[in-house]
This record gives sequence, C-alpha cells and structure tokens, in this order.
Amino acid sequence: MVTRLRDVLDFVERKWPSSGAESWDSVGLVSGALDAEIRRILLAVDAAQLTVQEAVDTSADLLLIHHPLLLRGVTTVAETTAKGSLLAQLIRADVALIAAHTNADVVQTGTSAALAAALDLEGSKPIVPAASDPERGLGRIGVLREPTTLGALARKLAGILPSTATGIRAAGSFERVVETIALCGGAGDSLLNDPAVLGADVYITSDLRHHPASESLEQSIARGTGPALIDTSHWASEWLWLDYAARELQEEFPQLQVEVSELRTDPWDFAIPQ
Ligand SMILES: [Zn+2]
Repeated sequence: MVTRLRDVLDFVERKWPSSGAESWDSVGLVSGALDAEIRRILLAVDAAQLTVQEAVDTSADLLLIHHPLLLRGVTTVAETTAKGSLLAQLIRADVALIAAHTNADVVQTGTSAALAAALDLEGSKPIVPAASDPERGLGRIGVLREPTTLGALARKLAGILPSTATGIRAAGSFERVVETIALCGGAGDSLLNDPAVLGADVYITSDLRHHPASESLEQSIARGTGPALIDTSHWASEWLWLDYAARELQEEFPQLQVEVSELRTDPWDFAIPQ
C-alpha cells in the first residue's frame, strides 16, 4: 500500500491537532503535494542548511520539523534568502515539509512531557493546563522519585540531553536539595512567574536571558522562597521529543523509514569556561 503525504498529514493532525497551537504560531504543511508518495521521513528540530541537506542526501520524502520555517510575513522566497534557499532545495528534491510546533508542545507526549519522562518525574502534569483538556498544556511539573541536589540534577540533564557547546547552566547552590521539578522545553521564561513554577524547587527551561532570570532570583530572595533555575540548550531540550514523535509515526506507518536527525542545529559551536 502506498503511503501519501495526505495520510501522514492526517495522522499529524490527529496526534498534534493544530487547534492546540498558540494563536501566533504557524503549523502544519509548509510545502509538498498531498498525493506525493512517502517512503522515508526525517525528523529535526529546525529546517536548517544541515538538516535540509541531510533530508535531500538521504532521499527523505518528508522533513518533519518542530520550529516552523515560515512564521512571520515572508515577501520573497528568492534563493538569495536563507528560507527561500532551503525551500527551493526541498521542493527540487521532492521533500515535503511539515511543522509541528506549539501544537506538539502541549500534548501528553510533547516536548515538555518528553523531558519530564527523561527525568522520570512522577505525577507530571501541565504547568498551564488547557481549558479544554487539563491533561494537555504548556510545561510540566512533577516530582523526582528521590530528592537529589541541584548539582546532581544538572549533571543528570547533561547526560540526558545531546551535547552542546554551552552545556547546562544553573542558578542556585550546587548542594540545594530539589524534588519538585517544573520544566518547559524551549524558551520558557513566560512561565517564570507561574504559581506552579514559583512553588517548585527548580525550573528547567532554555534561553533564559539576564533580566528575566535575575528578576526571578531576586524575587525568590525577597519572598524567602522560589525555584533554582537551570538553563539548557533550546535545541537540545526539544530534540528529545523527536524520538517520541518518530516512534509514534513508526507505529502508525510501519512500512515507512522514520529517522531522527542527529545533526546539531544549536547555534553555538564553542564556549570558553572561565
Ligand atoms: Zn523551540
């Protein structure tokens, strides 16, 4: 039986309904013909030169990405632009492109849930439950099977996540005991003041900038309580989810080759510890 792009797209919509995406997001089919035959799917966090080249070189028929290639208004796909060049390479090689972004963040096997599962959190539930379904929503909070220290948790994360130049950064004493863990795959500074995060022992997310991070820490000093912070690579935290997505696609379409790109699209190449 031939698998068409429309079959995969139907599954994507069932698995990660586009109705679950944030209003500013742009998810679903980016390029490709619904009748195109699909034999091989490559999953990646980003459509970047590395991953698009890999999709073309390995004869993928579909590149499924987490970050939408086209999110803000585009007025040209000239090949002198990065996005135009990537799209042209995909279209010429008959590689369709699908994005599953915030619609994949909120499901029970989404980006934050994958990170929670990797840390073996018990009773993990969304930090911001969806109004329609409290099992879905942004971020996750749960409890470790045994308390540990902030330092040991950061080390554990370093082992769980794929390697990146900037590694794992933490704010808080290395010896601080942590048990209740709040986390959000990708950039999660919008949840820093959520009551669930404020009540956790540590908040793990990515892309924490100076002001949001320092304000959170200062607020904890003023209140006498508040979470330690762990900052990870955005790409690494969301890359974990690709394995879940690949497994789900493979179960639905056992006849297809489904593979996760191992190529790092985290932007940083090296860091100098001082
Ligand atoms: Zn992201």
